Amino acid sequence: MGLSESLLLKIGSLRTDTSKVTGRPRRHQPLTLLWALGRAAQAEPRLEAWARTSAEISLLIEKFGHADDRPNPEFPVLRLFHHGLWELDASDVPAASTSSAQRWMNSHAPTGGLRPWVHTIVSRHPDVRAQIVLCLLEKYFQDVDPDELLTAVGLVGTPEAEVPLNDGSPAPQRRQSATMRVIRDSALAQQIKDVHGHHCQICGVRLCLPNGSYAEGAHIRPIGQPHNGPDEPGNILCLCPNDHVLFDRGALTLTDDLRVFDEVLGKVKGDLRLAPQHTISIRHIAYHRETTRQAAQPSH
Ligand SMILES: [Zn+2]
Repeated sequence: MGLSESLLLKIGSLRTDTSKVTGRPRRHQPLTLLWALGRAAQAEPRLEAWARTSAEISLLIEKFGHADDRPNPEFPVLRLFHHGLWELDASDVPAASTSSAQRWMNSHAPTGGLRPWVHTIVSRHPDVRAQIVLCLLEKYFQDVDPDELLTAVGLVGTPEAEVPLNDGSPAPQRRQSATMRVIRDSALAQQIKDVHGHHCQICGVRLCLPNGSYAEGAHIRPIGQPHNGPDEPGNILCLCPNDHVLFDRGALTLTDDLRVFDEVLGKVKGDLRLAPQHTISIRHIAYHRETTRQAAQPSH
């Protein structure tokens, strides 16, 4: 069994309590996972300090939990740790059921996040990430507006920024749109990769795996806040994992005449590989380059 299958099985077998008010499974762990998936989608660091983790997950529980869900992020993190999905920088981690667990978490304040193998899968495989998101939405959030939830965790951009809503569009259609965008994200990336035959547009490499070739779909202007890049072919590149990281982290940018610029060496490295069926947006390239260079400015 592959790692992706193991992950999906683990996601499908979360042990959750039941809300006494709604009779439905509690949402602490699903919300914690969606929060982490959003971070992975936006290439944020895998591990995060407990102060920020607990504050952000508490807000999500308050907003999207059941009426009787207390915003206590200690328990989902401990449950996910013992379920093998979460890493905590601490030893002798107590079970989530003990009454002292909450105190233990807040006094130890361990840095934490998805385990490396989980993080690798959800960062590199938008299709697996989409499958997990859909599985969680289906099982835990049937009465929640997915647009609102996925936007809150950074899994899609704001609906306004991404999809021009024809006014008067009925609510049910809007309800589907966030999940549809998640699916479309992986479908679009697949299309772009097919157009390039899985060759990296920067270095030309095609990685061959036992079950086929491998490449990644990289958004030029990141989707999700604060960038709100659109999910469209002109905003996606087909890259190898190395160049994907270098591009996302600003070591590589593109010039307006579609050459690859090495920001570390300060010179052009070569031409971007192009395909006639895939037109790349100069506007998004410029946005990526400018935000990259702004971020690299030394702060005083
Ligand atoms: Zn490459």
